[in-house]
Amino acid sequence: IVYQKLYYPKSRKKLLAVLKKSVSPKRYQHLLGVEQAALRLAELNQVDLEKASIAALVHDYAKERSAADFRSVITKSNLDPDLLNWNNVIWHGVVGAQMIKDELGIQDEEILDAVRKHTVGAPQMTLLDKIIYVADFIEEGRVFPDAQLARTIAYADLDSAVAFETKHTLQYLMSANKVIYPAAILTYNKWVVEN
Ligand code: GDP
Ligand code: FE
Ligand code: FE
Ligand code: FE
Repeated sequence: IVYQKLYYPKSRKKLLAVLKKSVSPKRYQHLLGVEQAALRLAELNQVDLEKASIAALVHDYAKERSAADFRSVITKSNLDPDLLNWNNVIWHGVVGAQMIKDELGIQDEEILDAVRKHTVGAPQMTLLDKIIYVADFIEEGRVFPDAQLARTIAYADLDSAVAFETKHTLQYLMSANKVIYPAAILTYNKWVVEN
């Protein structure tokens, strides 16, 4: 895919070089895997391939940043102060989007929103939001027992894949006595219960 530079000021190759410096080799491979899955889902669902590629490649851009970095961005960019009570799992999407905007020069709100929603989802999700949320879960590097089933569902019906992933994640969090971010419950109520 060749970028027309509508959403990112430089080439895909330049973006890859930035990402390679920003995350571990393992996570860099994950980004490429998410891009591959996202492009396939974008084609199946008639979504802009350039947006899908960029959102996929940058979705975990901030995953390895320090808590101090996140705290400073939350404060300086006037993000919801409740975020200060959470951690990297929640920050790297919601706060990471601000870092992507400031540091990579990506302004497109659809791309930034897809990054914001990629970990816990939301009751309202665009096709691009769903694609990044699901691609993150099904990329080829994911080896959990239900990964192949999740892929089959995703390539058949995107909404069903959002429901499957949401239920799977909440079941895991509860079985491990882990804290559930309140927004994750709203995602569950919409995509697992209502749909
Ligand atoms: P990754 O960044 O590629 O690893 O993928 P994600 O951004 O989707 O993060 C996945 C991790 O977030 C998994 O370990 C999930 O269990 C965890 N996670 C997702 N939602 C929640 C939540 O509501 N609470 C907690 N504590 N963890 C969550
Ligand atoms: Fe992530
Ligand atoms: Fe995810
Ligand atoms: Fe990811």
